[in-house]
Amino acid sequence: MMHCRRNAETHEKAGVAISFDDHFINEWFALRPMFQKYNAKVTFFVTCPDSLTQDEIKKLRLLQSDGHEIGFHGTIHGKSTELIAAGPENYKKIELTPGLSYMAKAGFNPTSYAHPGGNHNDQVDSVLLASGFKILRDVAISRRKMMGFQMYALAPRLMPWIYYSFDNQQVVDALLIDEDAGLTEPEMMEALEKAKSTNKALMLFGHEPLYGKPQNGEYGFNVPFLEKILKEADRKKLKFYTMSELPEEK
Ligand SMILES: [Zn+2]
Repeated sequence: MMHCRRNAETHEKAGVAISFDDHFINEWFALRPMFQKYNAKVTFFVTCPDSLTQDEIKKLRLLQSDGHEIGFHGTIHGKSTELIAAGPENYKKIELTPGLSYMAKAGFNPTSYAHPGGNHNDQVDSVLLASGFKILRDVAISRRKMMGFQMYALAPRLMPWIYYSFDNQQVVDALLIDEDAGLTEPEMMEALEKAKSTNKALMLFGHEPLYGKPQNGEYGFNVPFLEKILKEADRKKLKFYTMSELPEEK
C-alpha cells in the first residue's frame, strides 16, 4: 500500500472560479442553458442594485437556486480609495449600506465582493472584511495596450496570483477574459491544465456576454470563448467554485 505520495498528487480540489461584473442581468441569464450543459457554477457581482427590476430579481433568484452565487459590486460603482479618504463611514454610507439594503430587499445577502474598477487599498479591504464579506476580488490583466501598442504580455499560466491555493486567502485577483484582454484559446487551455496539475482554482472574470466584436463602447467577453473554457473544465473534471466557496474549501 503506497500512501506516502497521495497528498502530493491529488487533484481533487482543482477547479475554476468564474465571475461576472456589473449589471448585465438579462444577458447573463441568457447563458443559463450553457451553464447547465457543463454543470458550471459561477458568481454574478451586481452593481447599482437600486435599478434592479422585478424581472431581473426573478432571474437572479433563479440563477441563485441553480447554485450560482450573487455577489456585490458596490452601490454606485465608485472609486473606493477616494470615498474612503473622507473616512470609512463615508465610504460605507455611499458605496456599501444603500446597495446592500436594496440587495436584502430583493432577497440576496452577498458574502463576496468585487472591487469596482479594481480600485481599493488595505483600509477599504478591512472595512469590507469587517462588514462580513468572506472574499474580495480584484482584477488581473494579462495584456495591456497603450496607444495601440502591446506593452507586455504574460501567459496566464505564469500568473500565480490568479490561482487560489485553498489557503483561506480572502483578497484575490481574477484574470479578465474580456475581448480587449486579448487572451487566446491555447493560453486558456494551458491555464486550466495548470489548475489541474497544481490542484488549485483558476480565477477568471468578465463583463457583458458578447457574440461578436465589441461595438459602440461595449465591454465584455466572447460567449463561444467562455464555452470553450467551460467545456474544457468539464472535460478535465475541474470543480466549479463560486467565489464564497473558495475560502470555505478545506
Ligand atoms: Zn465593474
